[in-house]
Amino acid sequence: MGRSLSSNRPLILVTNDDGFYARGLVALAEAMERLGDVVVAAPDREQSGSSHKLTLDRPLRVRESTPNRFRIDGTPTDCVHLAICSLTERRPDLVVSGINRGVNVGDDITYSGTVAGALEGALLDVPALAFSVALDGERRADYTHAADFAHRLASRVLTEGGLGGKLLLNVNLPHGAPRGVRVTRQGTRSYRAQTERRTDPAGRPYYWIAGVEHAPDDEPQGDHAAIDEGLVSVTPLHANLTHEPSLEEVAGWNLRVD
Ligand code: MN
Repeated sequence: MGRSLSSNRPLILVTNDDGFYARGLVALAEAMERLGDVVVAAPDREQSGSSHKLTLDRPLRVRESTPNRFRIDGTPTDCVHLAICSLTERRPDLVVSGINRGVNVGDDITYSGTVAGALEGALLDVPALAFSVALDGERRADYTHAADFAHRLASRVLTEGGLGGKLLLNVNLPHGAPRGVRVTRQGTRSYRAQTERRTDPAGRPYYWIAGVEHAPDDEPQGDHAAIDEGLVSVTPLHANLTHEPSLEEVAGWNLRVD
């Protein structure tokens, strides 16, 4: 699999979690085609909320709909993993994920398949960027400004580097034209866990998980605050979840086994 790509242009791997046919993926792939050779490896259906799941309990099917456009029955993490290990004939220079329909800030980041797709690239030592855009009520998401910024940022990373050490950049954009750019921290936006219990026609209960936003971002340098101010939020992330300040305290518990 994989057709010959001219070898002197950068190779850019594009994935997402909204699925192969999502408009945001098409917009991102088009923006990347202006910078290099593009391989798309994306889930064949929506995988939002799939987090960093790697499918290990069943085979994965890959369909190459047109050359270098792969539709895969797995998660964004599966797609990036397979693409880098098996589908691309050379190592990608960049992984981009998105453009997600809806932002991925605060607690969202831990559930996000969009961020996980980029994270998988970073873990495999490929510079990686995740892009998400805020929804605007009932209107169709507008990906044009996000695609323009993705082009600009990808170009910067491809020409000047600076994203080593298994880092990724999580980029969130307001809906419409942004007023500027701010480098941010992962913020504090979180959800009150909520599920709806309903009854099916046979009288059996079923449930929908539906989080309700409840905590505003009180971190001034936070990702969500930037978007509220109409700015593009750019957050450097890494996979290591160790909470350094707690190491000493927990060590002080003197835990032991008998
Ligand atoms: Mn999504």
